[in-house]
Amino acid sequence: MIHETDIAIIGAGPVGLFAIFEAGMLKMRCHAVDALEEVGGQCAAMYPEKPIYDIPGHPAIDAYELIENLNAQAEPFSPVYHLGQRVEKLEIIEGDMKGGQKADPALSPASSAEQEARRGSKIYKLVTSKGTVIHAKAVVIAAGCGAFGPNRPPIDGLEAYESTGGVQYMVTKKDAFRGKRIVIAGGGDSAVDWTLSLADVAEKLYVVHRRPKFRAAPESVSRMEALAEAGKIEMVIPYQLSGLEGESGKLTGVKVATLEGEEKTLPADHLLAFFGLAMELGPIADWGLNLHMNHIEVDPATCETNVPGIFAVGDIATYRNKLKLILCGFSEAAMAMHAARNIVFPDTAYHFEYSTSKGTGF
Ligand code: FAD
Repeated sequence: MIHETDIAIIGAGPVGLFAIFEAGMLKMRCHAVDALEEVGGQCAAMYPEKPIYDIPGHPAIDAYELIENLNAQAEPFSPVYHLGQRVEKLEIIEGDMKGGQKADPALSPASSAEQEARRGSKIYKLVTSKGTVIHAKAVVIAAGCGAFGPNRPPIDGLEAYESTGGVQYMVTKKDAFRGKRIVIAGGGDSAVDWTLSLADVAEKLYVVHRRPKFRAAPESVSRMEALAEAGKIEMVIPYQLSGLEGESGKLTGVKVATLEGEEKTLPADHLLAFFGLAMELGPIADWGLNLHMNHIEVDPATCETNVPGIFAVGDIATYRNKLKLILCGFSEAAMAMHAARNIVFPDTAYHFEYSTSKGTGF
Protein backbone atom coordinates (compact mmCIF):
# COMPACT_ATOMS: atom_id res chain seq x y z
CA MET A 1 0.00 0.00 0.00
CA ILE A 2 1.22 3.47 -0.84
CA HIS A 3 0.38 6.31 1.54
CA GLU A 4 -0.27 9.60 -0.21
CA THR A 5 0.07 12.89 1.62
CA ASP A 6 0.97 16.54 1.23
CA ILE A 7 4.04 16.55 3.48
CA ALA A 8 6.28 13.70 4.59
CA ILE A 9 8.23 14.48 7.74
CA ILE A 10 11.34 12.49 8.55
CA GLY A 11 11.86 12.56 12.32
CA ALA A 12 9.24 13.12 15.02
CA GLY A 13 11.40 14.93 17.55
CA PRO A 14 10.21 18.27 18.99
CA VAL A 15 10.84 20.06 15.71
CA GLY A 16 9.15 17.41 13.56
CA LEU A 17 6.12 17.51 15.86
CA PHE A 18 5.87 21.28 15.63
CA ALA A 19 6.24 21.04 11.83
CA ILE A 20 3.10 18.85 11.82
CA PHE A 21 1.21 21.59 13.66
CA GLU A 22 2.45 24.29 11.27
CA ALA A 23 1.50 22.14 8.28
CA GLY A 24 -1.95 21.60 9.77
CA MET A 25 -2.45 25.34 10.21
CA LEU A 26 -1.76 25.68 6.48
CA LYS A 27 -4.21 22.85 5.71
CA MET A 28 -1.55 20.36 4.67
CA ARG A 29 -1.78 16.70 5.68
CA CYS A 30 1.29 14.98 7.15
CA HIS A 31 2.79 11.56 7.51
CA ALA A 32 5.72 11.41 9.94
CA VAL A 33 8.30 8.64 10.20
CA ASP A 34 10.64 8.03 13.13
CA ALA A 35 13.23 5.36 13.73
CA LEU A 36 12.35 5.32 17.43
CA GLU A 37 9.26 3.59 18.83
CA GLU A 38 8.03 6.81 20.47
CA VAL A 39 7.77 10.38 19.26
CA GLY A 40 9.86 13.07 20.97
CA GLY A 41 13.40 12.57 19.61
CA GLN A 42 16.20 13.51 22.00
CA CYS A 43 13.77 15.03 24.53
CA ALA A 44 11.88 11.77 25.02
CA ALA A 45 14.78 9.37 24.56
CA MET A 46 17.58 11.13 26.39
CA TYR A 47 16.36 13.54 29.01
CA PRO A 48 12.60 13.19 29.58
CA GLU A 49 12.71 14.19 33.25
CA LYS A 50 15.07 17.14 32.87
CA PRO A 51 13.64 20.64 32.96
CA ILE A 52 14.26 22.84 29.92
CA TYR A 53 14.53 26.53 30.75
CA ASP A 54 14.66 28.19 27.34
CA ILE A 55 11.31 27.38 25.77
CA PRO A 56 9.51 30.71 25.34
CA GLY A 57 6.54 31.07 27.66
CA HIS A 58 7.66 28.22 29.93
CA PRO A 59 9.99 29.32 32.75
CA ALA A 60 10.74 25.59 33.13
CA ILE A 61 9.22 22.56 31.48
CA ASP A 62 10.25 18.90 31.73
CA ALA A 63 11.27 17.51 28.35
CA TYR A 64 8.56 14.81 28.38
CA GLU A 65 5.92 17.43 29.17
CA LEU A 66 7.07 19.56 26.24
CA ILE A 67 6.68 16.52 23.99
CA GLU A 68 3.23 15.76 25.40
CA ASN A 69 2.20 19.35 24.67
CA LEU A 70 3.62 19.29 21.14
CA ASN A 71 1.84 16.01 20.52
CA ALA A 72 -1.44 17.48 21.76
CA GLN A 73 -0.91 20.56 19.59
CA ALA A 74 -0.36 18.40 16.47
CA GLU A 75 -3.07 15.83 17.22
CA PRO A 76 -6.12 17.76 15.93
CA PHE A 77 -4.59 17.68 12.44
CA SER A 78 -4.65 13.84 12.49
CA PRO A 79 -1.04 13.17 11.52
CA VAL A 80 -0.20 9.60 10.58
CA TYR A 81 2.87 8.26 12.40
CA HIS A 82 5.06 5.42 11.16
CA LEU A 83 7.22 4.67 14.19
CA GLY A 84 10.03 2.19 14.74
CA GLN A 85 11.17 2.51 11.14
CA ARG A 86 13.90 4.48 9.47
CA VAL A 87 13.50 6.23 6.13
CA GLU A 88 16.02 4.44 3.96
CA LYS A 89 15.26 5.86 0.52
CA LEU A 90 14.11 9.22 -0.76
CA GLU A 91 13.56 9.53 -4.49
CA ILE A 92 11.83 11.93 -6.81
CA ILE A 93 9.52 10.02 -9.08
CA GLU A 94 9.16 12.70 -11.75
CA GLY A 95 12.42 14.60 -12.00
CA ASP A 96 15.82 13.80 -10.69
CA MET A 97 17.28 14.02 -7.19
CA LYS A 98 20.61 14.78 -8.80
CA GLY A 99 19.08 18.02 -10.09
CA GLY A 100 20.49 19.50 -6.90
CA GLN A 101 23.70 21.43 -6.91
CA LYS A 102 27.02 19.70 -6.47
CA ALA A 103 28.24 19.56 -2.91
CA ASP A 104 29.95 22.80 -2.03
CA PRO A 105 31.96 23.17 1.17
CA ALA A 106 30.72 26.73 1.64
CA LEU A 107 27.14 27.25 2.73
CA SER A 108 25.62 28.17 -0.60
CA PRO A 109 22.04 27.06 -1.15
CA ALA A 110 20.55 27.60 -4.58
CA SER A 111 19.15 31.05 -5.24
CA SER A 112 15.34 31.27 -5.25
CA ALA A 113 15.35 31.84 -9.03
CA GLU A 114 17.40 28.68 -9.56
CA GLN A 115 15.16 26.74 -7.22
CA GLU A 116 12.00 27.97 -8.95
CA ALA A 117 13.45 26.93 -12.32
CA ARG A 118 14.08 23.42 -11.05
CA ARG A 119 10.73 23.07 -9.36
CA GLY A 120 8.04 21.05 -11.10
CA SER A 121 5.12 18.89 -10.16
CA LYS A 122 7.20 16.25 -8.47
CA ILE A 123 6.33 13.40 -6.20
CA TYR A 124 8.72 12.48 -3.45
CA LYS A 125 8.82 8.78 -2.64
CA LEU A 126 10.01 7.60 0.77
CA VAL A 127 10.65 3.97 1.60
CA THR A 128 11.23 2.88 5.19
CA SER A 129 13.12 -0.01 6.76
CA LYS A 130 9.75 -1.76 7.27
CA GLY A 131 8.80 -1.33 3.61
CA THR A 132 6.29 1.49 4.19
CA VAL A 133 6.02 3.65 1.06
CA ILE A 134 4.92 7.28 1.25
CA HIS A 135 4.30 9.61 -1.69
CA ALA A 136 4.39 13.30 -0.76
CA LYS A 137 4.32 16.66 -2.49
CA ALA A 138 7.14 17.96 -0.29
CA VAL A 139 9.48 16.53 2.33
CA VAL A 140 10.70 18.00 5.59
CA ILE A 141 13.74 16.38 7.16
CA ALA A 142 13.68 16.92 10.94
CA ALA A 143 16.08 14.10 11.68
CA GLY A 144 18.10 15.72 14.48
CA CYS A 145 21.57 14.26 14.42
CA GLY A 146 20.46 11.48 12.13
CA ALA A 147 19.96 8.04 13.48
CA PHE A 148 21.39 8.18 16.96
CA GLY A 149 22.42 5.65 19.50
CA PRO A 150 24.67 5.54 22.54
CA ASN A 151 28.42 5.00 22.34
CA ARG A 152 28.88 1.65 24.09
CA PRO A 153 31.89 0.95 26.30
CA PRO A 154 34.25 -1.63 24.81
CA ILE A 155 33.58 -4.40 27.33
CA ASP A 156 32.45 -7.98 26.77
CA GLY A 157 28.98 -9.31 27.46
CA LEU A 158 27.09 -5.98 27.39
CA GLU A 159 24.15 -7.36 25.37
CA ALA A 160 23.07 -9.80 28.10
CA TYR A 161 22.64 -6.92 30.56
CA GLU A 162 21.23 -4.34 28.13
CA SER A 163 18.04 -6.32 27.60
CA THR A 164 17.43 -6.66 31.36
CA GLY A 165 18.16 -3.02 32.21
CA GLY A 166 21.35 -3.93 34.08
CA VAL A 167 23.27 -1.73 31.65
CA GLN A 168 21.58 1.43 30.42
CA TYR A 169 22.58 4.50 28.43
CA MET A 170 19.80 6.89 29.41
CA VAL A 171 17.43 7.37 32.30
CA THR A 172 13.75 7.50 31.49
CA LYS A 173 12.33 6.97 34.99
CA LYS A 174 14.40 8.16 37.91
CA ASP A 175 12.22 6.17 40.31
CA ALA A 176 13.36 2.87 38.76
CA PHE A 177 16.71 3.45 40.49
CA ARG A 178 15.34 3.98 43.98
CA GLY A 179 17.24 1.89 46.53
CA LYS A 180 19.62 0.50 43.87
CA ARG A 181 23.40 0.33 43.68
CA ILE A 182 24.42 2.34 40.64
CA VAL A 183 27.67 2.83 38.76
CA ILE A 184 27.69 5.94 36.57
CA ALA A 185 30.50 6.06 34.02
CA GLY A 186 31.54 9.10 31.99
CA GLY A 187 32.85 12.63 32.41
CA GLY A 188 30.40 14.85 30.55
CA ASP A 189 27.20 16.71 31.38
CA SER A 190 24.97 13.62 31.30
CA ALA A 191 27.16 11.70 33.76
CA VAL A 192 27.36 14.65 36.15
CA ASP A 193 23.69 15.67 35.86
CA TRP A 194 22.43 12.12 36.47
CA THR A 195 24.80 11.75 39.41
CA LEU A 196 23.23 14.84 40.97
CA SER A 197 19.75 13.63 40.16
CA LEU A 198 20.10 10.02 41.33
CA ALA A 199 22.24 10.64 44.43
CA ASP A 200 19.16 11.07 46.60
CA VAL A 201 17.37 7.89 45.43
CA ALA A 202 20.27 5.42 45.04
CA GLU A 203 21.36 3.14 47.87
CA LYS A 204 24.95 3.55 46.68
CA LEU A 205 26.29 5.56 43.76
CA TYR A 206 29.78 5.31 42.25
CA VAL A 207 31.09 7.71 39.59
CA VAL A 208 33.76 6.16 37.38
CA HIS A 209 35.91 8.48 35.27
CA ARG A 210 39.32 8.05 33.76
CA ARG A 211 40.65 11.42 34.91
CA PRO A 212 39.91 13.96 37.66
CA LYS A 213 38.71 16.68 35.26
CA PHE A 214 35.06 16.55 34.09
CA ARG A 215 33.79 18.13 30.87
CA ALA A 216 30.59 19.44 32.41
CA ALA A 217 29.08 22.67 33.70
CA PRO A 218 31.48 23.87 36.46
CA GLU A 219 28.61 24.57 38.87
CA SER A 220 27.32 21.00 38.49
CA VAL A 221 30.81 19.57 38.95
CA SER A 222 31.17 21.56 42.20
CA ARG A 223 27.84 20.18 43.44
CA MET A 224 28.94 16.64 42.59
CA GLU A 225 32.25 17.13 44.42
CA ALA A 226 30.34 18.42 47.46
CA LEU A 227 28.22 15.23 47.45
CA ALA A 228 31.42 13.14 47.33
CA GLU A 229 32.93 15.09 50.23
CA ALA A 230 29.73 14.54 52.23
CA GLY A 231 30.06 10.79 51.59
CA LYS A 232 26.82 10.60 49.59
CA ILE A 233 28.54 9.28 46.45
CA GLU A 234 31.92 7.64 45.80
CA MET A 235 34.28 8.90 43.09
CA VAL A 236 36.24 6.10 41.38
CA ILE A 237 39.03 7.99 39.60
CA PRO A 238 41.20 7.38 37.53
CA TYR A 239 39.46 4.16 36.50
CA GLN A 240 37.85 2.83 33.35
CA LEU A 241 35.24 0.15 32.89
CA SER A 242 36.84 -3.25 32.34
CA GLY A 243 34.08 -5.85 32.74
CA LEU A 244 30.74 -6.91 34.17
CA GLU A 245 29.78 -9.51 36.76
CA GLY A 246 26.44 -11.26 37.07
CA GLU A 247 24.34 -14.19 35.96
CA SER A 248 21.42 -14.69 33.60
CA GLY A 249 21.30 -10.97 32.79
CA LYS A 250 21.22 -9.91 36.46
CA LEU A 251 24.09 -7.52 37.09
CA THR A 252 25.90 -7.88 40.42
CA GLY A 253 29.10 -5.94 39.87
CA VAL A 254 31.06 -3.65 37.57
CA LYS A 255 34.79 -4.21 37.14
CA VAL A 256 37.01 -1.17 36.79
CA ALA A 257 40.74 -0.83 36.15
CA THR A 258 43.44 1.84 36.10
CA LEU A 259 45.73 2.27 33.11
CA GLU A 260 48.39 0.49 35.19
CA GLY A 261 46.10 -2.56 35.40
CA GLU A 262 45.00 -2.23 39.00
CA GLU A 263 41.50 -3.78 39.05
CA LYS A 264 38.56 -3.79 41.49
CA THR A 265 34.87 -4.68 41.42
CA LEU A 266 32.09 -2.29 42.44
CA PRO A 267 28.96 -4.12 43.67
CA ALA A 268 26.12 -2.81 41.50
CA ASP A 269 22.61 -3.46 40.20
CA HIS A 270 22.91 -0.99 37.30
CA LEU A 271 25.62 0.46 35.12
CA LEU A 272 24.69 3.79 33.52
CA ALA A 273 27.24 4.52 30.80
CA PHE A 274 27.27 8.07 29.47
CA PHE A 275 29.86 8.20 26.70
CA GLY A 276 27.90 10.41 24.34
CA LEU A 277 25.99 9.61 21.24
CA ALA A 278 27.09 7.90 18.10
CA MET A 279 25.47 10.03 15.46
CA GLU A 280 25.34 9.05 11.88
CA LEU A 281 23.39 10.55 9.08
CA GLY A 282 22.78 7.06 7.78
CA PRO A 283 20.91 6.92 4.48
CA ILE A 284 20.33 10.71 4.48
CA ALA A 285 23.92 11.12 3.29
CA ASP A 286 23.01 9.41 0.00
CA TRP A 287 20.06 11.57 -0.99
CA GLY A 288 21.96 14.14 -3.08
CA LEU A 289 21.69 16.92 -0.50
CA ASN A 290 24.46 19.43 0.11
CA LEU A 291 26.09 18.51 3.40
CA HIS A 292 28.40 20.43 5.70
CA MET A 293 30.02 18.43 8.50
CA ASN A 294 27.15 15.92 8.63
CA HIS A 295 24.46 18.59 8.60
CA ILE A 296 22.19 19.57 5.73
CA GLU A 297 22.77 23.02 4.27
CA VAL A 298 19.63 25.07 3.86
CA ASP A 299 18.55 28.51 2.73
CA PRO A 300 17.92 30.21 6.10
CA ALA A 301 14.93 32.11 4.67
CA THR A 302 12.97 28.99 3.77
CA CYS A 303 14.95 26.02 5.12
CA GLU A 304 14.85 24.54 1.63
CA THR A 305 17.83 22.36 0.73
CA ASN A 306 19.64 22.37 -2.58
CA VAL A 307 16.99 19.94 -3.82
CA PRO A 308 13.74 21.85 -4.41
CA GLY A 309 10.83 20.53 -2.41
CA ILE A 310 13.05 19.01 0.26
CA PHE A 311 13.43 21.04 3.44
CA ALA A 312 15.54 20.47 6.55
CA VAL A 313 14.78 21.88 10.01
CA GLY A 314 15.98 21.51 13.59
CA ASP A 315 19.34 20.11 14.63
CA ILE A 316 20.07 18.57 11.24
CA ALA A 317 19.81 21.86 9.34
CA THR A 318 22.73 24.23 9.08
CA TYR A 319 23.28 27.78 7.90
CA ARG A 320 25.46 30.68 9.00
CA ASN A 321 25.23 31.26 12.77
CA LYS A 322 22.86 28.33 13.29
CA LEU A 323 21.91 27.73 16.94
CA LYS A 324 21.00 24.16 17.79
CA LEU A 325 18.13 25.03 20.07
CA ILE A 326 14.58 23.76 20.13
CA LEU A 327 13.20 27.28 19.86
CA CYS A 328 15.18 27.89 16.64
CA GLY A 329 13.89 24.57 15.27
CA PHE A 330 10.32 25.73 15.89
CA SER A 331 10.91 28.88 13.87
CA GLU A 332 12.55 26.87 11.07
CA ALA A 333 9.56 24.53 10.99
CA ALA A 334 7.23 27.52 10.51
CA MET A 335 9.36 28.94 7.70
CA ALA A 336 9.73 25.58 5.95
CA MET A 337 6.02 24.87 6.07
CA HIS A 338 5.12 28.28 4.66
CA ALA A 339 7.58 27.69 1.81
CA ALA A 340 6.30 24.13 1.27
CA ARG A 341 2.76 25.46 1.04
CA ASN A 342 3.64 27.12 -2.27
CA ILE A 343 4.56 23.69 -3.63
CA VAL A 344 1.55 21.87 -2.24
CA PHE A 345 -0.96 24.56 -3.32
CA PRO A 346 0.80 26.30 -6.24
CA ASP A 347 -2.40 27.83 -7.61
CA THR A 348 -3.79 29.26 -4.39
CA ALA A 349 -2.65 32.65 -3.19
CA TYR A 350 -1.55 32.76 0.43
CA HIS A 351 -2.82 35.42 2.80
CA PHE A 352 -0.92 35.68 6.04
CA GLU A 353 -3.10 35.46 9.13
CA TYR A 354 -2.35 35.19 12.83
CA SER A 355 -3.58 32.07 14.61
CA THR A 356 -5.62 34.37 16.84
CA SER A 357 -7.55 35.51 13.74
CA LYS A 358 -8.05 32.27 11.87
CA GLY A 359 -8.05 29.80 14.77
CA THR A 360 -6.81 26.30 14.18
CA GLY A 361 -9.64 25.37 11.86
CA PHE A 362 -10.64 22.13 13.57
P1 FAD B 1 15.76 15.21 17.50
O1 FAD B 1 15.19 15.54 18.81
O2 FAD B 1 17.15 14.66 17.45
O3 FAD B 1 14.77 14.20 16.77
C1 FAD B 1 15.12 13.67 15.51
C2 FAD B 1 14.37 12.39 15.28
O4 FAD B 1 14.63 11.95 13.93
C3 FAD B 1 14.83 11.24 16.18
O5 FAD B 1 13.71 10.76 16.91
C4 FAD B 1 15.40 10.19 15.22
O6 FAD B 1 15.05 8.86 15.60
C5 FAD B 1 14.71 10.54 13.92
N1 FAD B 1 15.44 10.12 12.72
C6 FAD B 1 16.71 10.38 12.36
N2 FAD B 1 17.02 9.84 11.16
C7 FAD B 1 15.87 9.19 10.75
C8 FAD B 1 15.53 8.44 9.60
N3 FAD B 1 16.39 8.23 8.58
N4 FAD B 1 14.29 7.90 9.53
C9 FAD B 1 13.39 8.10 10.54
N5 FAD B 1 13.67 8.82 11.65
C10 FAD B 1 14.88 9.37 11.74
N6 FAD B 1 17.81 22.21 23.54
C11 FAD B 1 17.27 23.36 24.01
O7 FAD B 1 16.75 24.18 23.23
N7 FAD B 1 17.27 23.62 25.35
C12 FAD B 1 17.80 22.75 26.28
O8 FAD B 1 17.82 23.04 27.48
C13 FAD B 1 18.36 21.51 25.80
N8 FAD B 1 18.88 20.59 26.65
C14 FAD B 1 19.39 19.42 26.16
C15 FAD B 1 19.89 18.46 27.07
C16 FAD B 1 20.40 17.28 26.59
C17 FAD B 1 20.91 16.25 27.57
C18 FAD B 1 20.44 17.03 25.18
C19 FAD B 1 20.99 15.74 24.64
C20 FAD B 1 19.94 17.97 24.29
C21 FAD B 1 19.42 19.18 24.76
N9 FAD B 1 18.91 20.14 23.90
C22 FAD B 1 18.35 21.29 24.38
C23 FAD B 1 18.95 19.96 22.43
C24 FAD B 1 17.58 19.56 21.89
O9 FAD B 1 17.14 18.34 22.50
C25 FAD B 1 17.67 19.41 20.39
O10 FAD B 1 18.00 20.67 19.84
C26 FAD B 1 16.33 18.95 19.82
O11 FAD B 1 15.98 17.67 20.31
C27 FAD B 1 16.39 18.91 18.30
O12 FAD B 1 15.13 18.50 17.86
P2 FAD B 1 14.95 17.81 16.44
O13 FAD B 1 13.49 17.51 16.33
O14 FAD B 1 15.62 18.64 15.40
O15 FAD B 1 15.81 16.46 16.50
